[in-house]
Amino acid sequence: MRYVSTRGAAPVLNFEEAMLTGLARDGGLYVPETIPEMSADEIAALAGLSYEEAAFRVMRPFLGESFADDELGVIISRAYAGFGHAARAPLKQLAPNHFLLELFHGPTLAFKDFAMQLIGQLFQTALARSGQKITIVGATSGDTGSAAIEAFKGLDNVDVFILFPHGRVSEVQRRQMTTPSEANVHAIALDGDFDTCQGRLKDLFNDFEFRDAVGLAGVNSINWARVLAQVVYYFTSAVSLGAPHRKVSFTVPTGNFGDIFAGYIARRMGLPIETLVIATNQNDILHRALETGSYTPTGVVPSISPSMDIQVSSNFERALFDAYGRDGAAVAQLMDELKAGGSFAISQGALESLRETFATGRASEAETSATIKATLAATGELLCPHSAVGVKVASEHVGATPMITLATAHPAKFPDAVEAATGVRPGLPPRMADLFDREERVTRMADDLDALKSLIRERTGR
Ligand SMILES: *Cc1c(COP(=O)(O)O)cnc(C)c1O
Repeated sequence: MRYVSTRGAAPVLNFEEAMLTGLARDGGLYVPETIPEMSADEIAALAGLSYEEAAFRVMRPFLGESFADDELGVIISRAYAGFGHAARAPLKQLAPNHFLLELFHGPTLAFKDFAMQLIGQLFQTALARSGQKITIVGATSGDTGSAAIEAFKGLDNVDVFILFPHGRVSEVQRRQMTTPSEANVHAIALDGDFDTCQGRLKDLFNDFEFRDAVGLAGVNSINWARVLAQVVYYFTSAVSLGAPHRKVSFTVPTGNFGDIFAGYIARRMGLPIETLVIATNQNDILHRALETGSYTPTGVVPSISPSMDIQVSSNFERALFDAYGRDGAAVAQLMDELKAGGSFAISQGALESLRETFATGRASEAETSATIKATLAATGELLCPHSAVGVKVASEHVGATPMITLATAHPAKFPDAVEAATGVRPGLPPRMADLFDREERVTRMADDLDALKSLIRERTGR
């Protein structure tokens, strides 16, 4: 299995290389050269398997020679052993044809644990084999950072630096990043918003001398291995509702387009997904882009669903690459236009191709709160604000096909918003109850690239 860049001008890599590289050297994102398909019989055979067994079968074809079968089996079982639910990704029913896929039973209570725990084990196996040392730098709107720290803390041969926007993450998110005491963990509060953090991350990766000197590796949702890990729960949930014999649709609370792109891959692999609904909060660039054809970032307005407060949606580039017939030069040109002029227009052909797969919707702040309240009253289920954005948008798309909405975080990660909406303050699961008593360790920094580089070099001694 070979991986190519969405901008068509970076080296072709195998799975392990693409995973350790993250962002391609031409600024693009790695995607598989061809998408392996699963037959209806192979999909049907997933029924009744454990999450881990299904994960093995879905992911195996993408890994090529990079990991042996027995290695992969161990990696998967370690990755999901720390989850607080035996099903890993349990499915609940909300309404006659509307289901909720709970993706928040991992160690940091958000769906990002599914990918990050796996990638931690994949990295460790690969690095132990090569003796290589790496420096992971990640940008986070809150959940990626805590998931990465949880997955990499204390591992050999890895330092992990997480950039988060100062004052713009919830207290639970911040504490999950600042309280681990392992020496290889470095939490950095940057002045700015998530796009500032992501911008600085891209700058670090685009400085090839720095990148090679510190052995930079990325675990943001641009990392192909993360997308791949997320493909699995589309299969397990669809199969439990009758796929491949029955179609399903999904609604996905979306920010950086990683989670929903995994659904797109599942569909390309042969899973009968009718529609993938992109649900955005008031930062609705993806909703507007698919409605109007114009991709125009407007600046982030902070919301009660902060992990979706994003205007530059990195993984959307992967969808564009396919929509433009895998023409890397065309994608590179769009990204140049975005950088130079602040927006680009999606061609009519590409727009039609995107609309065949994706529908969109947005939820305002008031609608999000109202949905948390109404869902609690109707079902007893307490939603986090991100999941509520999904449920609100999904309710506008539920039809004859079963709809599965992804619940991306536990309500206790965003207790203020949930309490404001319902009067009920969600409690942390007992395994995390002492989070507020642990000591915090964080470096606050201005948005200054050179200072950031110096800090990383100093802390890693490279
Ligand atoms: C990261 C995150 C999202 C958005 O996921 P993307 O892959 O960036 O689209 C939604 N909800 C929660 C809780 C998240 O942590």
